[in-house]
Amino acid sequence: VGLPLAGKTALVTGAGSGIGRASALELARAGANVCLLDLIGERTEDVEEEIRGMGREAEFYDVDVSDPVRMERAVRAAAERFGSMDVVFANAGINGTLAPIEDLTPESWDETLGINLRGTFLTVKNAVPHMKEKGGSIVVTSSINGNRKFSGFGMSAYSASKAGQVAFAKMAALELARYRIRVNAICPGGIRTNIGENTDSTKQVEKIRIPVEYPEGAHPLEHGPGRPEQVADLVLFLASDRSSHITGTEIYIDGAETLL
Ligand code: NAD
Repeated sequence: VGLPLAGKTALVTGAGSGIGRASALELARAGANVCLLDLIGERTEDVEEEIRGMGREAEFYDVDVSDPVRMERAVRAAAERFGSMDVVFANAGINGTLAPIEDLTPESWDETLGINLRGTFLTVKNAVPHMKEKGGSIVVTSSINGNRKFSGFGMSAYSASKAGQVAFAKMAALELARYRIRVNAICPGGIRTNIGENTDSTKQVEKIRIPVEYPEGAHPLEHGPGRPEQVADLVLFLASDRSSHITGTEIYIDGAETLL
C-alpha cells in the first residue's frame, strides 16, 4: 500500500550485476514484480530469491540482448507471464575491447555496438507492443563517456555506443509520447561494479593515454566512484510517476566528476 510501483511489472537487462542488479532490487522494494534478463543464469539466483523474499515475483530470462530472435521471445514470455509491462530498464552493457582506433577490429566494434546500442534498440522495440496500451517508463543506461567525458583510453566504440543510446532514447521519447511512454537516459560516472571484468584492454591503450586525468579519488562529492545503489535511486525516480513530466532527457549521475 502506497508503494510507488505497487502491482507494476519491471523488466531489467543486465540484472545479474552492478547497476542492473541494484536497480532490480530497488524496483522490487518499491512494489514491482521484476523480469530479470542477463546472460548467465546463476548470477541472478540470489536476486530472484531476495525479490521473492519481499513478496514480489521475479523471473530470470537467459538472453543475449543483441540477439533479436531470443529477445523477442524473452520479452514476450515475460509480458505473458506477468500480464503487463510498465517499466523497462535497458541497462545491459560492456566496455568491450579497449584499443586505439587503428588496432580496433571491426568485430570488436560490432560487439560493443551490438550489445550496448543494438541491445538497447531490441529491448525497447520488443517492449513497446506490451506497453502501448497503458503507457510506462523506459530508462536507458548510457554514460558520461561519449556525452560529457572523452578521456577513456581506447574507448571509441564504447563512447559511440553510449552517445548513440542518448540519441535513440530522445527519438524514442518523441515517438512513444503518444502512448504515454516516457523514455530517459541516465549517464553515470564511475560506479563500482564488475564491468572491468568484461573489459578486454590491449597494451596498445597505453600509447594513447591522454594526460588529462585527475588523481584517483578526486571526485568532488564522493571519495571515489559511486555505488550502484545510488544509481538505482535515480532509476526508481524515473520509473515512478514522481517523474511524470520528465521524458526525452539525459540525467548525469556522477558526483560532479565531469565538472573537474
Ligand atoms: P556489470 O558488468 O557489473 O553488469 C552488467 C551486466 O550486463 C552483467 O550482469 C552482464 O552479464 C550483463 N550483460 C553483458 N552483456 C550482456 C548481453 N549481451 N546480454 C545480456 N546481458 C549482458 O556492469 P555495470 O557497471 O553495472 O554496467 C551496467 C551499465 O552501466 C552498462 O551499460 C554500462 O555501460 C553502464 N555504465 C557503467 C559505469 C560504471 O562505472 N560501472 C559508468 C557508466 C555507465
